[in-house]
Amino acid sequence: MDGKKSDGYKRIPIKIEIYNKIKEEHKIRNIEYSVSRWVSDLLLMNIEKYEYLRLYAPYISYKGVHENELFLRDEKLDRIVEVVLKDRTLFCRYCNKDDCIHIHYALVLPELGRLVKYSKNKI
Ligand SMILES: [Zn+2]
Repeated sequence: MDGKKSDGYKRIPIKIEIYNKIKEEHKIRNIEYSVSRWVSDLLLMNIEKYEYLRLYAPYISYKGVHENELFLRDEKLDRIVEVVLKDRTLFCRYCNKDDCIHIHYALVLPELGRLVKYSKNKI
C-alpha cells in the first residue's frame, strides 16, 4: 500500500485531445454526474458489449478497420467478412445485404465509431 486513502478510483492517463472530446460530449449530453463517473460507465458499457458479442456470436471476432470498412473474422465461414459503411448504411459484402449477423455484430461493436467520419458529409 502507498498509504493513500482510496476513493474507489484508479487513475489512468488519457491523452489531452481525447479528454477534451470527452468533456465536450459530457457537456453536449448535459450529463448530471461527474466526467470521472461517466467515463467509468462508458468503459464498463464497452466491456459489457464485448461480453455480449462473445455470447451472441462466439464464432465472429473483430479484426480491424480501414477507412469505411470493418473486418470481421467468421469462424463458421472460415473467412474474413467486410462490412462497409456507405451512404449512412452498413452493408455486408459477403451476405450482399444490409441485415445479417455481421451487420448486427458491427452495430454493437464500439469500433463502429471509427467509421463515423465517413458518414458525416452525408448527414
Ligand atoms: Zn453478413
